[in-house]
Amino acid sequence: MSNKQIFSATEIDSFLLCRKKWAFSYLDNLDPAPSKATELGSAVHKVLENYLRTNSITYDTTEGRIASTGLKFLPENLDPAHIERHIFFSIEAHIFHGFIDFFHHLGSQIWLIGDHKTCSSFSSALKPDELKTNTQANIYAQWAFRERNADTVQLKWIYYRTKSTPEARLVEASLTKDEALENFQPILQAANDIKKLLDEKALAKDQPKNLSACFKYGRCPYYAACKHGSTETQANPSKLIVKKAAHEDGDNAHIPAPPPDKSNTNQEAFHLFIDCAPTKTGGDYQQTIELSELLKPILTKINTEKELKHYRLAGYGQHVGLIANYLTEHLKINPYDNRTAVLSSLRTPEGCDTLQTLTAAAGKVVRGF
Ligand code: SF4
Repeated sequence: MSNKQIFSATEIDSFLLCRKKWAFSYLDNLDPAPSKATELGSAVHKVLENYLRTNSITYDTTEGRIASTGLKFLPENLDPAHIERHIFFSIEAHIFHGFIDFFHHLGSQIWLIGDHKTCSSFSSALKPDELKTNTQANIYAQWAFRERNADTVQLKWIYYRTKSTPEARLVEASLTKDEALENFQPILQAANDIKKLLDEKALAKDQPKNLSACFKYGRCPYYAACKHGSTETQANPSKLIVKKAAHEDGDNAHIPAPPPDKSNTNQEAFHLFIDCAPTKTGGDYQQTIELSELLKPILTKINTEKELKHYRLAGYGQHVGLIANYLTEHLKINPYDNRTAVLSSLRTPEGCDTLQTLTAAAGKVVRGF
């Protein structure tokens, strides 16, 4: 089995800003307790997600009033599969993931990627040239270049001011494939450096501080623990929470758990094996299905209903979303129980959407990386 690590933009940015800060969070698994601002940001995101799905909004809540100021910047009639999407892709020895607030095919090989940002003041908003090199934007764009066959990505970051009079402002930038490739090099370098530290079983106490970063985005949430030279929660018990026991599963404990399954709580559903297979003694499966076999009737249905000679002719990148939607329907009509093992690969030819749909529907996911 390989030992790939999964990285988010948050982790990469934290590592690049201050290694000590990164170590508090990713080696000692201490997270800041959610602040009121974070909770309000989540509430605004929920309102906006609901608006993109239903085209409706309530104005009688604080979050509704804040969210309503940015509606003029949002695209209309989005494919529901293009809203709040968990994306991931593999480069070299690493996997990158993130949650895209919304994305949209603008035609040809141009894709729009949008993100909602709440802020207390617009002074913290990125400038267009900063957005172009922003880690989160480049991870999202890289996904579109790889999984949607994009050659250009339009970035649309919408900032919602939560203090004073609610107002929204739009920051836009465009990325070509070549620009994005260049921008991705420091991200990859940071991922390599993190992987090396994890392989060496580095300790948080040995990581260097960057004192110039302590107040860059307000006071660092680890300030008290950092100042007292301790990673103990006692240093600031009300502000830090333990995510989970650090590295309890060895190296792979660094890999975040798969996203919570909101749509399926059926523990009796099939088991999904990604880049691995059940061991002879590891499960009593009545049938083992290769992903290609599972997808056969779905692809035939797409070809028939969409009058296509081949599902890949649905348009640049569109076949991926189509398969995910048809697969969801297929699994509703043909539920596989936990006596079924489905064998897949992180690099399915049909893309991440298929894997994400399967992951959400599975009763158990076993990863071989
Ligand atoms: S307080 Fe400063 S030095 Fe310490 S972890 Fe935070 S940013 Fe780094």
